[in-house]
Amino acid sequence: MSIKIASEAGPTLPLLFDTHCHLDLPELLPQLEFHLQQACALGVQAVLVPAVEQKNWLPLLALQQQFKFDVALGVHPWWAASAQLNALEQLPQLAAQPEVCAIGEIGLDYALDEATFAAQALFFSQQLAIAKALKKPVVLHHRKSMVQLLAEIKLQQFNEGGILHAFSGSYQQGKAFIDLGFKLGIGGTISYQRAEKTKKAVKKFPLDALVLETDAPAMPLSGFQGQVNTPAQLRLVFQALLELRSEPATQLAAQLWQNSCQVLRLNAQSRLLGSA
Ligand SMILES: [Zn+2]
Repeated sequence: MSIKIASEAGPTLPLLFDTHCHLDLPELLPQLEFHLQQACALGVQAVLVPAVEQKNWLPLLALQQQFKFDVALGVHPWWAASAQLNALEQLPQLAAQPEVCAIGEIGLDYALDEATFAAQALFFSQQLAIAKALKKPVVLHHRKSMVQLLAEIKLQQFNEGGILHAFSGSYQQGKAFIDLGFKLGIGGTISYQRAEKTKKAVKKFPLDALVLETDAPAMPLSGFQGQVNTPAQLRLVFQALLELRSEPATQLAAQLWQNSCQVLRLNAQSRLLGSA
């Protein structure tokens, strides 16, 4: 069964792509179909679901068959310390399928306990190498780790690009990833008044370097703290970005949609949720 595209969305709602939404996590999974329908009704017509650990890969691929969202496979740095090494053997086999558009969510998180750093480094460098061999983009997680991520990307001469998810930081920090072929994932951070540095940077970046994301169920927008975030909230992320940018809404939405499809190498016309 595939979900219906809500026709009441109407022609005035521009199409939006949530490039980072963990629909398979326990907070969202029980009502996955509802969340997708609610998002669709608000114009969110494509969603990328990045896996976080090996045991979710096959269930996620099964859900993708049913609901027609896009998927990335990988081991998230939060799960690296508890991951099995055979994940690095299974990943290239599964991720070689055309249904898997990226390797992710991968990266480095230096806000975690230092005891996890060695495992994080191993899984990040190996998964980046897998993405390079498969010629697929990556979905990157960062926290206090931009310098180290950039160093590894340069060391491996990784040229497939991808998305630096949950961008927050300065213009220079973002630009360093853009220069290596990455898009910056813009999420609920820009709805917070305190995010001055990030908002200033987001105003200035070239529009073709940005994509939208919710990071649901995490990263609730300002005013929704303590609540489970959902893909329908992408509409509000778009509104927050619209306030920062000079482009009109239709131009902004069209370019963001095109950026998402380009970086994930997807057919821009056939990305409608629920379409076969
Ligand atoms: Zn994530």
